[in-house]
Amino acid sequence: MERTLALVKPDGVARNLIGEVLRFFEQAGLRIVAMKMLRLSKKEAQEFYNVHRDKPFYDSLTDYMSSGPIVALVLEGENAISRCREIMGATNPAEAAEGTIRKSLGLDKEKNTVHGSDSPESAAREIAFFFSERELLAGQR
Ligand code: UDP
Ligand code: MG
Repeated sequence: MERTLALVKPDGVARNLIGEVLRFFEQAGLRIVAMKMLRLSKKEAQEFYNVHRDKPFYDSLTDYMSSGPIVALVLEGENAISRCREIMGATNPAEAAEGTIRKSLGLDKEKNTVHGSDSPESAAREIAFFFSERELLAGQR
């Protein structure tokens, strides 16, 4: 069993697509084991995306990610990290495969509706960024 961190980004929440995004993950067999809605400050968005601090899109990305509420999820399943990334599709919705979240719902390369951790190290860091031990224990079945 593996865990990963996924986000419904501000464009997804703003367009009433929370349930739609959850449906993609649940129908693929990933279990939601923790979930919350919150709004990141600009500073928190900068910290979350610190790995991209030198990229040209960093300032716009962190403005966007702090522009409205998001939903944070911990998903659990076999190979959850790579499966979540597959279900999401490529970063640019125009390049994402048919049937993926980003192909179906994404607006553009920035406002692409979902985030998913890209490695076990990122997943551990990103889960701890959003959830306490107590919140993680609550979802155990
Ligand atoms: N992003 C962007 N322009 C780019 C590349 C990425 O605005 O040229 C945004 C987009 O929202 C993406 C996020 O920055 O999801 C993080 O980029 P990354 O390369 O890590 O893509 P992801 O892992 O989300 O597919
Ligand atoms: Mg990434």
